[in-house]
Amino acid sequence: MTPQRLIQTRTGKSFQLPLFLPVYQPRSNLIPIDELKTRFAVDGLIVNGFFLYKEAEVKKKLESGVNVHEYIGFDGLVMTDSGAFQGLKRPLYLANKKIVQFQDTIGADIVSPLDLISPPGDNFQTAQKKMISTNNRIREAKTIVKNSILAGVQQGGRFLELRKKSMEALMEMEVEYIAIGSLVPFFNKNHNMSTIIKIIRDAREIAGKDIPVHVYGAGDPVELPFLAALGVDIFDSSSYGHYANSGWYMTPYGALSLTDTDKIREFPCPCSICRESGNKIQILGQPAKLAPHNLFIILETIRRIREALENKTIEKLLEDILETHASWFPGSLLVSSWREYSG
Ligand SMILES: [Zn+2]
Repeated sequence: MTPQRLIQTRTGKSFQLPLFLPVYQPRSNLIPIDELKTRFAVDGLIVNGFFLYKEAEVKKKLESGVNVHEYIGFDGLVMTDSGAFQGLKRPLYLANKKIVQFQDTIGADIVSPLDLISPPGDNFQTAQKKMISTNNRIREAKTIVKNSILAGVQQGGRFLELRKKSMEALMEMEVEYIAIGSLVPFFNKNHNMSTIIKIIRDAREIAGKDIPVHVYGAGDPVELPFLAALGVDIFDSSSYGHYANSGWYMTPYGALSLTDTDKIREFPCPCSICRESGNKIQILGQPAKLAPHNLFIILETIRRIREALENKTIEKLLEDILETHASWFPGSLLVSSWREYSG
């Protein structure tokens, strides 16, 4: 058996990897915190630090000594992000220094710099500029963070050469945690993972085998085992909620919707929502029921990945997924893009 991989926080708590961090929005989460803790027993959460920061009352409370674990009522691992994603759409008038300091002060276990997201459409010069600025911000963040683990965020857009340079700079800075940024736009409905595979393979090679690697925003259970096989340790996503809001029923082989009712009926889901429902198809129109089903599937996937990595049966797990996936989704590029990599 392969020994378990762990991440240890500054407060001395250890968590088994791979780890999935559901996005948690304190005011409006589809699954309340009590359920996340008791029914799902989640190990960790990711909370948007920028949303906490911009609400004057919440900010005041947190800065006066209530830490983020107390504020949300959760003592597992809490990672915060910085508003970088919001910054892609509009100017934030937010300084890297301030948002990093804030996340460190409120006791987040892992904090994010205000990195500059680089979508696939960015040309080389733009992607390079954003990568260099992101690295400068991480250097600055390193001098500020005292109580947390700082995520060293890789950027570089679609350019493998920039992605590698970004990783080399992060290793030179001696970051203890890598987060791969701007991959979400590369995840698409056809599951073409070609670029993602190359970026992650290179990143893991440069990072070495010990340092935790996180892919920001990865949350489709069909893709997680492949990312884990490439060496990704941590995932975060709000997918369980936004798939539910659009009527998508997650399975380990890909998400299904109203056009696939036969497959949904046949899929033997052991979650309590599906077991207690007389007609699973009705769940598709009920986000409050579909979200817990989706989260169950994601967490069950993580459990199976952990087991497969320990028993060295990950290849078998991937083959099983590919077989069902290919028969369900003949137009998908998951199989061909994975074969291109694994030879
Ligand atoms: Zn279910």
